[in-house]
Amino acid sequence: MAKDRENAPAKPVQTDVAMKLNWEVPMEGGCACGAVTYCFDVPPMIVHCCHCRWCQRETGSAFVINALIETSKLAVTGAVETIATPSQSGKGQIVIRCPRCKIALWSHYAGGGPKVAFVRVGTMGDPAACPPDVHIFTGSKLPWIKLPKDAKAFPKFYPDPSQVWTVAARARYTAAKASG
Ligand SMILES: [Zn+2]
Ligand SMILES: [Zn+2]
Repeated sequence: MAKDRENAPAKPVQTDVAMKLNWEVPMEGGCACGAVTYCFDVPPMIVHCCHCRWCQRETGSAFVINALIETSKLAVTGAVETIATPSQSGKGQIVIRCPRCKIALWSHYAGGGPKVAFVRVGTMGDPAACPPDVHIFTGSKLPWIKLPKDAKAFPKFYPDPSQVWTVAARARYTAAKASG
């Protein structure tokens, strides 16, 4: 772990989205029963809103919102359990859950591997701090969800990351994957 959560200042979470750029305040989250909490103090590399059928089933909802963070930047308290589940790609997904209440907190996918955590934004203390940068698999978006007109949206996965990732975020992703 990069940082123990107990060392993080217990400030109230900022709701101003503009703060995302500075990200001076640790973002906290956790499961429903309180046995597992996490904290990170870097902005997400990117935030995906996924409308695929798999995410709809897993969440029981219309979409999932995943904030991509280096796993090393996640300071976690409490034991977690790791569940292998099928995924849209066919390559599987590792879901990290609370062992008591079973809430899913983050996932690892084949593409990013274990060094990249897809944090489920709905488990954060302030989900409004991580608005989606891109909507994916909108081909299966529920018809009553209306996306903002200027939203980046792709019917499947985006074909070219440079269309949606910043250069700096892509460098972080590459470095995270390469880290030992
Ligand atoms: Zn729990
Ligand atoms: Zn999905």
